[in-house]
Amino acid sequence: RPQPNSLYARDVEYVLHPNTNARRHEEIGPIVIDRGEGIYVYDDQGNRYIEGLGGLWSVAVGFGEKRLVEAASRQMAKLPYYHTFSHKTNEPSVELAERLVKMTPERLRRVFFTNSGSEANDTVIKMVWYYNNAIGRPEKKKFISRLNAYHGITIASGSLTGLPANQRDFDLPFLPVKHVTCPHYYRNALPGEGEEAFADRLAAELEATILEEGPETVAAFIGEPLMGAGGVMPPPATYWEKVQAVCRRHDVLIVADEVINGFGRLGTMFACEYYGIDPDIMVLSKQITSSYLPLAAVLISQEIYDGIADNSGRIGTFGHGFTASGHPVPAAVALENLDIIEEKGLVANAARVGEVMQSELRTLSDHPLVGEVRGVGLIAGVELVADKATKAKFDPVGRIGAQVFAKAHEHGLIIRAIGDVIAFCPPLIITEDQVRDMVARFTRTLDDVAESIGK
Ligand code: PMP
Repeated sequence: RPQPNSLYARDVEYVLHPNTNARRHEEIGPIVIDRGEGIYVYDDQGNRYIEGLGGLWSVAVGFGEKRLVEAASRQMAKLPYYHTFSHKTNEPSVELAERLVKMTPERLRRVFFTNSGSEANDTVIKMVWYYNNAIGRPEKKKFISRLNAYHGITIASGSLTGLPANQRDFDLPFLPVKHVTCPHYYRNALPGEGEEAFADRLAAELEATILEEGPETVAAFIGEPLMGAGGVMPPPATYWEKVQAVCRRHDVLIVADEVINGFGRLGTMFACEYYGIDPDIMVLSKQITSSYLPLAAVLISQEIYDGIADNSGRIGTFGHGFTASGHPVPAAVALENLDIIEEKGLVANAARVGEVMQSELRTLSDHPLVGEVRGVGLIAGVELVADKATKAKFDPVGRIGAQVFAKAHEHGLIIRAIGDVIAFCPPLIITEDQVRDMVARFTRTLDDVAESIGK
C-alpha cells in the first residue's frame, strides 16, 4: 500500500482556491464560513459578517431561507434528477421556462437551461453559430464584447470576458471576439466630454468596428446592461438606445447578460427594463435560485428558435446539452425563489432601500481615498484613488483594494475588491437600517486604511 504523502496529509491545505492568491492563502489560511441567516454569514469562530456582496452577487432572498430548502427537499423526494434529452422533460423546468418567458421582454419566447452563467454564455455562442449556419450565413460568426466585461470563465465565455489580466494569463480570446471600449464614464470619457457625447462616441466606435470587420461577419453584441463584475459601471442613460440602433442597422443580435443584474438588482425585475433594451437573447443565473443550487437559463427569440428547429433535421439536431440541463431540483428552487421575490416585494425593496444605499455611499465621495461612488439600486461600486484630482491609481495591481477587503473582515463586513473598486451587492432583503450599518462598517474600514497609509 502506498504511504500517504503530503498531498493527502490532512493537516495541509491542498485545495487550489479559485481566484485566490495561492501563496498568500497558504500564509493566512481561509475563513471558514459555517452558516448564514438573512444578510449575515458566520464563520466557524462565531464571527458574524454582513454579506455585502450577497455571496457572489447571488443571494437575493438571503441566507438560511427555509422555503428554498423545503422546495429542494420536496423535489428531491419526488424526482431527484432526470435529464432533458431525447424528448424528456419534467414539471419544474417546464413551469420555470413558462414563467421566465412571461416575466421577460416579449421578444424572448424559448428557454435553454444550463448549470452556470459561463455555460449559458457558451451556449449562446453555439446557438448563434448554429442559427447562422442553419439560415445560410455561416460567415456571420464574430462576437463583439466590451473591455473589462465579465461573461464567464470557460474558454468560450472567457473569450467574451474582456478583463485584460484574464486575457493575458489564459491567451484569450480563443474565438473570434472583438472588444470595444466599455461605458465607464469616470475612466474612459475624454476631458470635458459629457455623458451624451461619450455615449455617442462609444456607439460610433462600435459601428466602426462592425464596418471594419464587415457586418456580414459580425453575429452578435453581448453586454451586461450594467457591468458588474468588471467594476460596477452604470452606462450613460442613452448608451443602450444608441448601441441597439447600431446593432439593428447591421443585423447584429443583441445579447443581454443579466446574470448579475436580473431579478430585481437595479430596482426593476430586469435591467433591460431599466435601460430600455429589447434583446434577442437574455442570459440569467445567480439570483434565479439565490444560488442555493446552480442554474442558468438562456432565453431566445422565436426567430432564433425557428432557425434552429426548422433546420435541425437538415444540418443535424442542436447537439448541445448538459447532464443537468433542466435539472428538476434547482428548477423547483428557482420557482420558490421567484415566489419569495414576488411575495416579499423584493424588487420594490431594491428600488427603495437601493436609494438609501446609493445616497449613504455617496456621503463617502469626500473621503480622501474615494475617487467615485456609482451604482443603481442595490448594486454599487466605490473606486479608490491615490489622487482625487488626477484620478491616479495607487498601483496597477489593486493593493489598496486588497487592503480594504481584508480590513473590512475585521469590521464584520464582506465586500469584493475588483482591483481598487469596492463592490456592494447585498441580498435584496436588506433593510434601511442594515444598509446604514453596512456603510458605517465600510466607513470605519476606509478610515483605518487611510490612517495606516497616512492619508
Ligand atoms: N456573466 C456575468 C455577468 C457574471 O457576473 C458571471 C459570474 N460572475 C457569469 C456570467 C458567469 O457565471 P458562472 O460563474 O455561474 O459561470
